[in-house]
Amino acid sequence: MYDVIVLGAGPAGLTAALDTARARMKTLVVAGPMIGGQIAFTYQVDNYPGFYEGITGPELSERFKVHAERFGAVFHDASAIGVDFSGTPYKVMVDDRVLDARSVILAMGMNHKKLGVPGEDRLMGRGVFVCSTCDAALYEDRKVVVVGGGDSAIQEALDLARFASDVTIVHRKGETRACKCLMEKAINEPKIRFQYNTVVTEILGDKRVSGVRLSDLKTGESRVVETDGVLLAIGWEPNTSILRGHVELDEVGFPLTDGVKTGIKGVFVGGDLIDKTYRQVVTSCGSGCAAALEAIHWLEGVSSR
Ligand code: NDP
Repeated sequence: MYDVIVLGAGPAGLTAALDTARARMKTLVVAGPMIGGQIAFTYQVDNYPGFYEGITGPELSERFKVHAERFGAVFHDASAIGVDFSGTPYKVMVDDRVLDARSVILAMGMNHKKLGVPGEDRLMGRGVFVCSTCDAALYEDRKVVVVGGGDSAIQEALDLARFASDVTIVHRKGETRACKCLMEKAINEPKIRFQYNTVVTEILGDKRVSGVRLSDLKTGESRVVETDGVLLAIGWEPNTSILRGHVELDEVGFPLTDGVKTGIKGVFVGGDLIDKTYRQVVTSCGSGCAAALEAIHWLEGVSSR
């Protein structure tokens, strides 16, 4: 029996685990596919306080994990495949085991969104990719198309430009929504070009990506552009399919919450699952900490009754 099971090991889950373990709550982190969550895909985190020279996403993730372990949190490198919050203790299904917990913190974050165009699924991992930190070195002196117009697209393009010979950002609008600080860097990077008001309608290639079909949304013109890779950076969707029927969700899949509290006593949420606006490492850590403090109060209240 665990006092707290944390689902997810991004900044929110890792901070929550650090705080519950530090309060001497027996804490298990069901870590999912990647320690660090989205920041595991980030080459450089430049706005986490104290790390004034910047720090790589994977290194910051590892530091968060070691910090939680220092206080006794235990990690399980698997994804939860189900939950049952219909009675206490709460149940979390992992591999072929059912784990019991008095309290659960949901911090599973988000999954990459897909375009839904022909060729995308077939060529995923064969030129279609979602993480420049993981794959940029494979594109040394090659051409890459980056799809999207948010901070991720621009950050990924900058990371890729360290290796690739040519990076084209394809965005469906006439301007990006990325912050000025990133845009300034991208505009000043000679390897990066922008293709505005344009969408990818097909990803081409036999065994690997060889090109994309683009459609100009203003003229309707369609053309094929050669490329060796297509990086998708079109946003994220909540990773909450295992919660359906157990926690109240909105139409997109975000838990309905009051702050970090769900409608189920003892079940709390942190990180991107409760933040559609800020979604920075530091804000995720903040709500992970808040979820942990609520879980600690809940557990102390239950045990003192
Ligand atoms: P966003 O949701 O901000 O941006 C997604 C982009 O993809 C938008 O430009 C959107 O277009 C486009 N898009 C969405 N769906 C499609 C589609 N089907 N076809 C084509 N284009 C599509 O996601 P991000 O991952 O960029 O950012 C998420 C959050 O993480 C933000 O809060 C961001 O600030 C933060 N972040 C911060 C970083 C930093 O500070 N360095 C780095 C990375 C992320 P449209 O604009 O038309 O809606």
